[in-house]
Order: sequence, then C-alpha cells, then structure tokens
Amino acid sequence: MHVTHQGPIDVVDQYEPAAGLLDGRVILVTGANRGIGRAVALAAARAGAQLILSGRNVAGLEKVDDEIRAAGGLAPSLMPLNLLKATIDEYRVAAGAIDDAFGRLDGLAHIAGILGARSTIEHFPPMEWHNVMHVNVSAVFLMTQAMLPLLKKSEDGSVILTSSGVGRTGRAHWGAYSVSKFAIEGFMQVLADECDGRPRVNSLNPGATRTAMRRAAYPAEDPNKLRTPEDIAAAFLYLLGPDSRDANGRAFDCQPPRS
Ligand code: NDP
Repeated sequence: MHVTHQGPIDVVDQYEPAAGLLDGRVILVTGANRGIGRAVALAAARAGAQLILSGRNVAGLEKVDDEIRAAGGLAPSLMPLNLLKATIDEYRVAAGAIDDAFGRLDGLAHIAGILGARSTIEHFPPMEWHNVMHVNVSAVFLMTQAMLPLLKKSEDGSVILTSSGVGRTGRAHWGAYSVSKFAIEGFMQVLADECDGRPRVNSLNPGATRTAMRRAAYPAEDPNKLRTPEDIAAAFLYLLGPDSRDANGRAFDCQPPRS
C-alpha cells in the first residue's frame, strides 16, 4: 500500500487490494454504467463485494451486470435512477429495497457527475448551472440522506465523494463544475464531523483519467498519456475497505501531483 500525506491532501497511489478485500460488503456505486464508476464497480466485485449498480442508462448497467457475473462476481442488484430528475420518494424506495435485500449498506461511492459548460461565470448558461449543481451536489445530498440509516447499520460503513483538482483550487472556465466540487468537499467535511466515523466519509480526486468527461474537457489531449479508470479504481477500493478504517473527513488524490 502507498498512502502519503501532501499537506492537507493524502495521496493513495498504487494500492494493491488483497484478495477478498471487500468480502461480505454491500456497496452502492453511482455512475456504474461507464467511465470511472464502471471500473470501480468491476474492481469491487472482483474484491468480493455485493454490488448495487446505480445509473440512468439501464442498458449500460445491464452490460456491467453481465461483466461482473461473467467474471464470477456476486450477482449485482440494479438501481436505475436519473439523478437530475429523481424524486425524494424514489430515493426512499431505493433505500427500502436495499434494506429488504441486505439490511444495511457498507459502502456508498458517489461517482456519477456531469461537466457542464466550459465557460466564464459571466457567460455561464443559468439552466446548465442548475443542472450541474443538482447532479453533482443536490443528488449526492438526497442519495446520502436516504442511505444514511443503512450506512449506520454497517460495522465499517464508508462514503466516498468524488472530487476534482478544480474542487480544491478554482480555475477560470470551470464554472459550475468547479463550484460543485468545492461544495462536495464541504459536504464531506460536514457529514464526516456529524457521523464521527459511522460511517466514515472522505473525498477522492481521481486526477486526469481517460474517460468521456476528460475528453470533453480536453479534446486536443492525447488520451493514451492518461491513466485509465482501471488504473485508479484501486484507490476507491482502499477507501471502501478495512485498510482505511481510520480515515474520516480527509481529502485524497488518486495520483501524485504532476511534476
Ligand atoms: P463520465 O462522463 O465518463 O461518466 C459520468 C457518469 O455519471 C456516467 O455513468 C453517467 O451516466 C453518470 N451520470 C451523469 N448524469 C447522470 C444523471 N443525471 N443520472 C445518473 N447518472 C448520471 O465521467 P468520469 O467517469 O470521468 O467521471 C466520474 C467522476 O469522476 C465524476 O464525478 C467526475 O467529476 C470525476 N472526475 C473525473 C476526472 C477525469 O479525468 N475523468 C477527473 C476528476 C474528477 P450516463 O451514461 O447515463 O450519462
């Protein structure tokens, strides 16, 4: 394992999950149909977890479900949910279904997110601002609130908020996305302080990763120079599993700072 402290940020890099690391754990992953969420779901299933796959694209979720079963993982549960539109009742129903099936939740990895416009705040389209803040922040609040009673029933519950470099230092043209990730850091700190480790709550910045979102943000970049979602998935497993049992209220990076 490799965890280093870089000022206020911890870096978890080249973590090697032990076989069976997540045996017996029930873990909900949002954005599980593609990108980083898909890679984390597949890696968590390989490490023995019982997955609940959430996403709005049902065909994509079914594909990941097939991949997990084909690899010999436990049969996942699917939780189709459009985070832009889901009602409070839909979150309650989803939590009730998890309670009925498993009686608790051991991990909640909030990975779904949207980039929105790359624009100055002066010209930022107001509806898009609203949508980014809703999917990246308000939906995280609604989902977490619904799942907290189940997370409190776990012996070692863990909540991961997916952050970003621009959630820690603001930069021109990152608009609502940057502001939403700053909000996620605040959400993480408040919830961690309130829950006092049951569940523990931490943020994780994947760093530049080869996905559709990164391609949309940096269309001219050579994607082959970036880490893949599979490369960084282990950092999520670190925070979901017992090796991070003492981590609460901390901000992590998946990759060391670029030199
Ligand atoms: P992708 O764009 O590849 O995937 C985004 C995921 O979020 C998809 O599963 C998508 O589902 C889901 N999603 C978007 N909108 C909704 C919605 N309304 N309801 C339900 N699900 C939705 O992004 P990444 O995998 O790159 O990003 C994952 C996380 O990592 C994000 O939080 C992002 O901010 C963060 N991140 C990524 C970095 C990178 O370099 N890639 C760097 C720093 C942070 P659908 O297929 O239905 O659209």
